[in-house]
Amino acid sequence: MKSIKIFAPATVANLSCGFDVLGCCLDNVGDEMIIALTSESGVKITKIDGADLPIETHKNVAGVAVEALLASYKETVGVTIEIYKKIKAGSGIGSSAASSAGAVWAVNHLLGNPFTGNELVQFAMEGEKLASGNAHADNVAPALLGGFTLVRSYAPLDIIKLHSPKDLFMTVIHPQIEVKTSDSRSVIKHKISLKKAIHQWGNVGGLVAGLFTEDYDLIGRSLEDVIIEPLRSILIPEFQNVKEVAIQKGALGAGISGSGPSIFALSKGIETATKVAKAITEVYNKTGLDFDIHISKINDQGVKIID
Ligand code: ADP
Repeated sequence: MKSIKIFAPATVANLSCGFDVLGCCLDNVGDEMIIALTSESGVKITKIDGADLPIETHKNVAGVAVEALLASYKETVGVTIEIYKKIKAGSGIGSSAASSAGAVWAVNHLLGNPFTGNELVQFAMEGEKLASGNAHADNVAPALLGGFTLVRSYAPLDIIKLHSPKDLFMTVIHPQIEVKTSDSRSVIKHKISLKKAIHQWGNVGGLVAGLFTEDYDLIGRSLEDVIIEPLRSILIPEFQNVKEVAIQKGALGAGISGSGPSIFALSKGIETATKVAKAITEVYNKTGLDFDIHISKINDQGVKIID
C-alpha cells in the first residue's frame, strides 16, 4: 500500500476584481491529508479529523474529485483518504477546494503523474460543484498550481499561472460566522452595466500586469471591485472599517476573500502585513465576535508532500 501525507493549502479567490477567475495560494494555512492506494477498488474516506463533514464518498468533495480522476484512469485502483481539517468549511479561504485539490494531487502523484495540472483542476472542480453547485476553478487552480492563477476561460478550461512577486504577503481575517457560498452567490446581480464591466476588466488587466512587472503600486490600484464587493460586503461585519485600517497601515489593497466572510489584505513585505494584522485585530476585538487571523507569504508550489 503506497501512501503520502500532504499539505492542502488554503486559497484566496477573486482578489477583488477577478470574480471566479483569479486566485492565489497561501503557504502556512491549510489542511493535512493522508492518501493511500489500495488493492481494493473504490474510494473510501477513512477518517475526518477537526470538522464535522460527510464521510460518505459521494458527499465529500475529496471523494467526488478522486472519483472523477479515477473515471479517466485506465486501470482499476482503490484509494483511501484521511482528512485533517484546519480550514473551517464556509470560511471563504477554500476549505472544500483544499480537500478536492489535495486529494487529486496526491492520487496523481501516487499513480506516477499520469495527469496534467489542468486535468487535475478539472477533476477537483467536480468537488467544487458538490460544495457550491458551481464548478468554479478559482480556488482549486491556485491550490494545485501554486502562486496566482487566472482562469482565462471555463469552456474550454484555460488556466494561466501568473507571476508571484516575492515580497507579497497576505493578511486574512476569518470572522467565525458562516456565510455559505450559495447564500453569498444569491446576493449577486446577474446583469451588470457596461460601465462597471469596463472598470472591472481594466483592473483585472492591471492586476495581471502588476504581478508580472512586480509593480506594487499597480497591484494596489487594481485591487478594486465595483461589481461584487458592494453587494456582498454587507454580509460581513466591519468590512469597510477593516478595509480602511488595512490600507491606512500600508496594505496595497483589501477585499472579500472568495465568497466571504474572510477578508484579505495584500501587502508588500511581512512587516506591513503584520502591522495590518494588528490593526484589523483591534477592529475585530471590538465586535465581540470570534475570529482567526493569518499572515502568509504566497505559496508558489501549491499542494506539497510533508513529513
Ligand atoms: P469554502 O469556500 O470555505 O470551501 P464552501 O461553503 O464553498 O466553503 O464549501 C463548504 C461546503 O462543502 C460545506 O457544505 C461542506 O459540508 C461541504 N464539504 C464536503 N466535503 C468537504 C470537505 N472535504 N472539506 C470542506 N467542505 C466539504
